[in-house]
Amino acid sequence: MSAPRLEIDLKKLVENAQIVKAFCLEKGVNLTVVTKAVCGSMEIVESLLANGFSSFAESRIANLQRIRQSGLDAQLILLRSPMLSEVKQVVAYADISLNTELSVIRRLDKQALKTGKTHAILLMLELGDLREGILPSDLSEIVQEILTMEGIKLLGLGTNLACFGGVAPSAEKMRQLSAIAWKIEEEYDLNLEIVSGGNSANYQWLMSGEDLGATNHLRIGEMIFLGRETLAREPVLDLHTDVFTLVAELIEHKVKASKPYGELAQNVFGHRPAFNDLGERPRAILAVGEQDLDISGITPRLDAKIIGATSDHLILDAFGLDLDVGDEVAFDLNYSALLRAFTSPFVEKKYLK
Ligand SMILES: *Cc1c(COP(=O)(O)O)cnc(C)c1O
Repeated sequence: MSAPRLEIDLKKLVENAQIVKAFCLEKGVNLTVVTKAVCGSMEIVESLLANGFSSFAESRIANLQRIRQSGLDAQLILLRSPMLSEVKQVVAYADISLNTELSVIRRLDKQALKTGKTHAILLMLELGDLREGILPSDLSEIVQEILTMEGIKLLGLGTNLACFGGVAPSAEKMRQLSAIAWKIEEEYDLNLEIVSGGNSANYQWLMSGEDLGATNHLRIGEMIFLGRETLAREPVLDLHTDVFTLVAELIEHKVKASKPYGELAQNVFGHRPAFNDLGERPRAILAVGEQDLDISGITPRLDAKIIGATSDHLILDAFGLDLDVGDEVAFDLNYSALLRAFTSPFVEKKYLK
């Protein structure tokens, strides 16, 4: 087997997804699986489809295109607001897109009419996290125009918190979303099919026993893949937290000084790192680096300390460890390490069935 590689335990992954789905359904909330952290992996989508999941969301249209063109029967949602330059592909490959700009929605409408389709949208609301979102005070006017568009179906509203600004989806924020949804329904005498309240950060709110109001949908990625909610990254619902394992191979093992010697200047990434002098220590170099993934987001399963990394090398303090050249070392990954490892062509993906 080659290294570095990402081992994916599909059985644990599907179990996590089923537990999260049951938890949501019990509260009356439908679930879309967000596959962007696994780069729209076909193996993962197929495993989930085979186990009763039918709605998937992605932020990259190329991943949706691949899933659509494989002929799988699934609802596909584009999470990131469409670029004007990709409107054609969005209408072709996504059933639903999340939107905040009228200029984009007008173009989606045109493209849908041109190709004889209806494109469904959710309007995203800005509630404090300051990523994408329509200001609540602007919503009514935007809805008014959308309702005149024949190529667009306004499926509902959504919001995304705890992503850029780290603002929690508190009971108050969620009540605000519901109030806005109900007001729009009343004002335009319509029924919003979907009120999409958020992501893995909504776990505590779901648990709190608060009335969920109009919210009937969540878009969940990290909680399924890594087994944690995302406000404090606590493991929840007895989910597996080891669905993914990064494996890297040892290419050098030597006893060296622990403090670099010579005239000190910047390192490869423009930093001037500081080192404690611990005398001579055994050091292991693994063939994996910043080009492959976010090294700050991995944790060795061995009791070992990562000293640092360059583009292609990870340096481990190997004190007290029985390691040699050719050995493999396993790591846990956080969200950003997983995201980048999945996207790297240098990291093999090995699916365990
Ligand atoms: C990434 C993303 C999600 C999923 O977030 P998780 O923390 O992985 O559950 C949901 N909604 C939007 C709009 C996203 O961009």
